[in-house]
Amino acid sequence: MSKKAYLCVPKSTRVEDNYRHKGLRQLMVNKLREKGLIDEAVLAAINAVPRHVFLDPAFVEIAYSDQAFPIGSGQTISQPSTVAFQTHLLEVSRGNKVLEIGTGSGYQACVIAALGARVFTIERQRNLFFKTKEILEQLPFRVKTYLGDGFEGLPTYAPFDRILITAGAPCIPEKLVAQLKPGGILVIPLNDTDAEHQKMLKIKKLDNGTLQQEAYGDFMFVPMLSGTAND
Ligand code: SAH
Repeated sequence: MSKKAYLCVPKSTRVEDNYRHKGLRQLMVNKLREKGLIDEAVLAAINAVPRHVFLDPAFVEIAYSDQAFPIGSGQTISQPSTVAFQTHLLEVSRGNKVLEIGTGSGYQACVIAALGARVFTIERQRNLFFKTKEILEQLPFRVKTYLGDGFEGLPTYAPFDRILITAGAPCIPEKLVAQLKPGGILVIPLNDTDAEHQKMLKIKKLDNGTLQQEAYGDFMFVPMLSGTAND
């Protein structure tokens, strides 16, 4: 009598990314290019990450339109053009060690990983953290997730080549600057006139430790909050 054999299917093959998804994604990338996001390496990374996987299956069309969207726990997945812009400012090179604050859906982390970086990402909300961790485990990107307060960074894995904050920050967190390599870049949406509007800053840490900053346009992010939460 023969026994049925069960094959062990790698997790990365479990996610469906069919021709329709790929077609919609290519159209979205074309639109981002028309909007002036012309960093081809970043656009290729966006084309490599199945954004629909981060949303409920009912929202495939929305996944490939340029809009932010709720992901539960009171949080949102960032708008693709914002993801493209922040990733562009970060100037990621293959092999870079990148720290992201604000995992949220995990989408931005995957886009950075698709550029060949090793990504470490921190989320402060427990339920969201576990939901996202499960999704990321089914994708083939090098992203490590941590539950904690992003203001603290990840001293054990520091220093980082690049640090990206994806929540509206009330200040430039000192501990994160300390965890950035000399020559490294921090991209941070820093609160402007109120906690709802941010100026995007690209901060370079020079070899002598001084910071050089450039300001870009206005954005709206959910707030960067201290401590951890259960939702
Ligand atoms: N990068 C995300 C979008 C994040 S929305 C994506 O691609 O989907 C911002 C996220 O930052 C939220 O999930 C919020 O809970 C988280 N956040 C806010 N303050 C934080 C902190 N101090 N440490 C870690 N995560 C934080």
